[in-house]
Amino acid sequence: MKKFSSHSRHSNIKKMQELDFDLVIIGGGINGAGAAREASLRGMKVALIEARDFASGTSSKSSKLIHGGLRYLENLDFKLVFEALNERTKLFEMAPHLVHPLRFLIPLYETSRVSMFTMGLGMWLYDALALFQTPEMHERLSSEETLKRMPILAANKLVGSFVYSDAYMDDDRLVLETLRSAHDHGAVCANYVKATGASFNSDGCLNGIEVTDTLATNPQPFMVRGKHFISTVGPWTDLFGEKLFQDWKKILRPTKEFTSPFLRHDCH
Ligand SMILES: Cc1cc2nc3c(=O)[nH]c(=O)nc-3n(C[C@H](O)[C@H](O)[C@H](O)COP(=O)(O)OP(=O)(O)OC[C@H]3O[C@@H](n4cnc5c(N)ncnc54)[C@H](O)[C@@H]3O)c2cc1C
Repeated sequence: MKKFSSHSRHSNIKKMQELDFDLVIIGGGINGAGAAREASLRGMKVALIEARDFASGTSSKSSKLIHGGLRYLENLDFKLVFEALNERTKLFEMAPHLVHPLRFLIPLYETSRVSMFTMGLGMWLYDALALFQTPEMHERLSSEETLKRMPILAANKLVGSFVYSDAYMDDDRLVLETLRSAHDHGAVCANYVKATGASFNSDGCLNGIEVTDTLATNPQPFMVRGKHFISTVGPWTDLFGEKLFQDWKKILRPTKEFTSPFLRHDCH
């Protein structure tokens, strides 16, 4: 196994200055790390840069759940749930030290929007879409059994509950281990290297990303050249897009109108 540490950072930055890459990835969260691993496993020459520390963005601030998305069944989005449950199974196999089963209990009351029958159907479907590769099959509990299992619940109008499995994870470690695996397969990854601009060839196609090593004593921008580029900067997508393209049209739509602590403008 090759060493992936602060010691390899310096030589990786040197490689970034010297080599031409098949794929340059901007952003070291879970999407960048996953893309780097998948591409390097397929033999591509990959570079990945991250403006601050790896996983310092959204990927260390999630709810830490690996879930198939039980609620998406209501929208009949079976493909999405099937895919997510399959990924859950893969993660159980690939990272058993980081991904652990978690049991959930959903109590249902006479006033609940969903009946025991409908929820029961959803539960069977959820386990079936996981191809029954679930840590434990779901359980249907009567109101008495529910209260025995979860005595803090309000008993009035309780009709019963369902217990089912999903998983929780160590999100930032998952990013680091994915990057470590990418590194083992030849990906050249460096943190504290910020993308600040881009270069285009005469046909107007992107052929390089201008980056700066923010830890250097005398930071000088340099180009990372590549054939293909992926931006996995997550919530920074519009800020980054505006830097690269004058005619960039904003594509992000916040789900809530407040200043998110994840959007740290200080890194730009
Ligand atoms: C509150 C919340 C809870 C969530 N809970 C879950 C959950 O339970 N389970 C689940 O699976 N998902 C969950 N998610 C979703 C999940 O966290 C995100 O889908 C995922 O982390 C996105 O990863 P990313 O790599 O796209 O973005 P990020 O992790 O944000 O990575 C983007 C990276 O790009 C870097 N960057 C930005 N600009 C530049 C630049 N100019 N140069 C270089 N690098 C740059 C940033 O520093 C950052 O590290 C949750 C999300 C939120 C907000």
